[in-house]
Amino acid sequence: MRIGHGYDVHRLVPDRALILGGVQVPFEKGLLGHSDADVLTHALMDALLGAAGMGDIGKAFPDNDPAYAGISSLILLDRVMEKLVTAGLRVGNADLTVLAQRPKLAEFLPQMREKLAPRLGIPQERLNIKATTEEGLGFTGSGEGIAAHAVVLLEEN
Ligand code: MG
Repeated sequence: MRIGHGYDVHRLVPDRALILGGVQVPFEKGLLGHSDADVLTHALMDALLGAAGMGDIGKAFPDNDPAYAGISSLILLDRVMEKLVTAGLRVGNADLTVLAQRPKLAEFLPQMREKLAPRLGIPQERLNIKATTEEGLGFTGSGEGIAAHAVVLLEEN
């Protein structure tokens, strides 16, 4: 078995859609980034690549490459999974945490699970997604940005 950790942050800005775990969440701001800036899926990809010993998403999908401008992070996740499958690895389970003061995310977590679990090749009960605030503290607390952590376990075929 191999364990991996991922962490990511994106800034909240006006006039952008807020995409988290592949789900568009209604909010007055969205995350700024070269792709769709899906911070949760980015943390997940970094955890997967980390566990596989394959570096990080910045190396896999450079943010100066126009091919990735505005791209859905779910497509990037599919590419990460292709690399893992090719390397003889499969996901055991994953545990994700989003840190956001606003908006309230609880009602959207089941949809995120539905979107992400099949892409990871696991049943939904092996993908846990949590959301928390940081009690008004720091950059997530002030609403400047949203952060996400991910931990995954990979198994060798
Ligand atoms: Mg990112």
